[in-house]
Amino acid sequence: MRVATGLIVAISLCVPGIAWSQSAPPKAGAAPQSAAPQAAPAPAPAAAAPAQMQAQAQPARPPCNNPNALGVARTVEIDTTGGPGFGFEHFKELDFLRDHEVVLTFDDGPWPENTPSVLKTLADECTTGIFFSIGKHATYYPEILKQVYAAGHTIGSHTWSHANLNDKKLNDQQRKEEIEKGFSAVKWALGGISPAPFFRFPALQHPPELVTYLGNRNIAIFSCDLDSFDFKASKPQTVIDNVMRKLDKLGKGIILMHDFQKHTAEALPELLKRLKDSGYKVVAMRAKAPVQTLPDYDQAMLKEIKLPTVSSRPVSSVVTEVSQ
Ligand SMILES: [Zn+2]
Repeated sequence: MRVATGLIVAISLCVPGIAWSQSAPPKAGAAPQSAAPQAAPAPAPAAAAPAQMQAQAQPARPPCNNPNALGVARTVEIDTTGGPGFGFEHFKELDFLRDHEVVLTFDDGPWPENTPSVLKTLADECTTGIFFSIGKHATYYPEILKQVYAAGHTIGSHTWSHANLNDKKLNDQQRKEEIEKGFSAVKWALGGISPAPFFRFPALQHPPELVTYLGNRNIAIFSCDLDSFDFKASKPQTVIDNVMRKLDKLGKGIILMHDFQKHTAEALPELLKRLKDSGYKVVAMRAKAPVQTLPDYDQAMLKEIKLPTVSSRPVSSVVTEVSQ
């Protein structure tokens, strides 16, 4: 166990301070409660990003005026060169969290109702997390993923279709596609803004050759220190109990949850209060530089969702109101 100096840099110290701007949850779309991602409606096209947006830095978290909020204790910046691994369930080299520090992570979104609910709770507590989006879900609900981004949270990828990359039925090309199209889809959903080079394998299945591949792509790999097992929970209280029991044992860690899960969204307000009351502090993780998606997969993703690829002009340059 060692502390990595030089790879992770603390860049700010924040204290709770204003309610974040809120976005109303989408009215349409029922949230499934099963663990496996479900089929979803046809994709809605994302707005094209102006050129200047593509170079834009991650939005700052809004100031906080809730003096009792959980807040963010510190922010660390990750140099993903060589594909560092995080989360002691699988990667034990980078021990950067101090006692009673946690990182909140949310998988499988974006998803209607549940993801906006998680966003509201995080905003109420002036805190933050990493969202590992499924590429297909990002194409179904790009507006929700844009809300995640706008609120200042870190966004990574969790494959294109949530395939288990240890599945022997997949060939090498298909495994690579799952990784690359996932990042391309998230970038598309964000209107051309590349997410962090942060990746989590579905079901935490880490084929060694793909760990090497991600290392060569300079993409960090996230396992976890403690799994909430929220996808197995039959009620919100179980999610809270699982997390607090494991945290009290470990004292710190990267917590794996799912913004896709209804129980997690329902449990989060109480869970964050319990974390605060128990003296835990949230650490934000950001990437030093965005992921570099591969153009071939950017194009392959567009073809798959059957979008027009010729025009990328914003709505305002295509549709002009000439009379009311
Ligand atoms: Zn998942």
